Amino acid sequence: MTGERLPRRTGKDLQLRAIREILRATVEALPLDEILSVIANMAIIVFDASTSWLMVKEDARLRTVVSRGELADALTGRECAVGRGSAGAAATRESPTILEPGDVDPADVVIGGLAGNAKPVVLLPLRAGDRSLGLLGCVVPPDATRDVSFLLILAEQAATAVETAELREESRTWRQRLDAVFEQMSELVLVFDREGRLALMNSSAAQVLGQTGVHLGDSIADLVTKAGLYSADGRQLSPEETAIARALRGERVESAEERLQRPGGMTRYFLVSGVPLFTDRRMEGAVVVWRDISELRRAEQFRDEYLSLVSHDLRSPLTTVMGMGDWLRRMLERKGLKKEASSAQAIVTSAQRMNAMIQDLVDTVRLESGYIEMHKQPTDLVQLVSDLVGRVGTVQDRARIKVEAPEPLTQVPVDPDRIERAIVNLLTNALKYSAPDTPVVIRLARRNGDAIISVTDQGIGIPPEDLPHLFERFYSPRAGLKAEGLGLGLYITRLIVEAHGGRVWAESQVGKGSTFYIALPIA
Ligand code: ADP
Repeated sequence: MTGERLPRRTGKDLQLRAIREILRATVEALPLDEILSVIANMAIIVFDASTSWLMVKEDARLRTVVSRGELADALTGRECAVGRGSAGAAATRESPTILEPGDVDPADVVIGGLAGNAKPVVLLPLRAGDRSLGLLGCVVPPDATRDVSFLLILAEQAATAVETAELREESRTWRQRLDAVFEQMSELVLVFDREGRLALMNSSAAQVLGQTGVHLGDSIADLVTKAGLYSADGRQLSPEETAIARALRGERVESAEERLQRPGGMTRYFLVSGVPLFTDRRMEGAVVVWRDISELRRAEQFRDEYLSLVSHDLRSPLTTVMGMGDWLRRMLERKGLKKEASSAQAIVTSAQRMNAMIQDLVDTVRLESGYIEMHKQPTDLVQLVSDLVGRVGTVQDRARIKVEAPEPLTQVPVDPDRIERAIVNLLTNALKYSAPDTPVVIRLARRNGDAIISVTDQGIGIPPEDLPHLFERFYSPRAGLKAEGLGLGLYITRLIVEAHGGRVWAESQVGKGSTFYIALPIA
């Protein structure tokens, strides 16, 4: 009943909608060339076209991929530039182009072969938004050009199919790229599912963990026992403590240290990062990345052993040399053997210098590796400077030093021991590189929220070309001549000051003298 009362147009709309649905199902299920064949065939069977063909755009060219019907051969393998010829131009338009029999140019690279034919040709663009993807062409009965809505549906479905194929290809390419990255990463990558089972691992992980009997499907507890998972401080981890379990509880884990330790095997050290994996806001599992830092750890161990060897084992015999040398000097002096006594003094001085060099080397390594922490505390810098001046060099040296402090500098947050070392380095240089009868001035001042400590001498000065390099490691322009230090003193000063957020610099004039500055933030 209802059906009969529907106007004719609505009936046709329903039909078209039904066809659209059938086509949509086809488009979703089949590979592209098969879908395009179905569409070309439908144009012939349903729309009564005598010939139909589909062209797809690739790199600004249109190429025929399917042709069906009477004149199919004339269209096989045809191609043209987008925008060129009847087909190329029609592909760029928004609406269909209808060519009456006389309108077809026999010289047209694509449709030239249809010129002798007495039927009209309809060219429909395949579009996705404002992008042109190709063309559907049909040779149709003369009266069929009045209503091409069915062909429009075919073109629309063909466009969807082409677009879907493009997207599929794109996602396949991406997948391949990601797979390659995943597989080639030197880091161990492990993916766990929501239940905490190992779902995926890359080849680096399989290589390391495979040896321990870990395999896909294992639980975190399996992994902990099979691989021997330990904390940074050498405790066997409980499954709940691992970065994996933490990530599965929704935590973002960054650079947790874990170790693989198996009886009789070498310990391997890892920095582990982990994140929960979400799809559409649902947690699907977690991924953890293990970076092998075993080399680094071993290098650090070596450095620490080396440091303690240098700072203790190498220095204790030196202490004996210094002590015995001094005892010898005093004894020789007492016996009135002046020449011999000064030779003994030379032993002491050399041993002291060597001791200072060792100290510089050890301090440099410690400061560079962040080994030394700055214990900042509110400090009276004027007091600190006055105290240290009483301890440097010889009595004659101390007589040359003048402290100028026009304003108090209390409560400056510094590590007093380290800052003292930084200032002493400047002071000993100033004394060393100037004549014994010239003054050395330490000035303390406040400028733009900084405490400024400067050390001025009237010594030999520094050539302009050396000035920018003074604070570099091992920079010692006159080292060969005087065999003074190792060129580490100013470098150490810089490391200490920079660890306080401060700056160091120098001004100098050859033959006139130098001023070295330390600026330390007060707040
Ligand atoms: P070192 O421990 O060898 O003295 P430093 O880092 O303390 O090394 O100094 C590096 C170089 O800078 C010195 O060798 C010297 O040439 C130059 N220098 C440092 N302070 C002064 C100064 N007050 N006057 C002239 N030259 C200086």
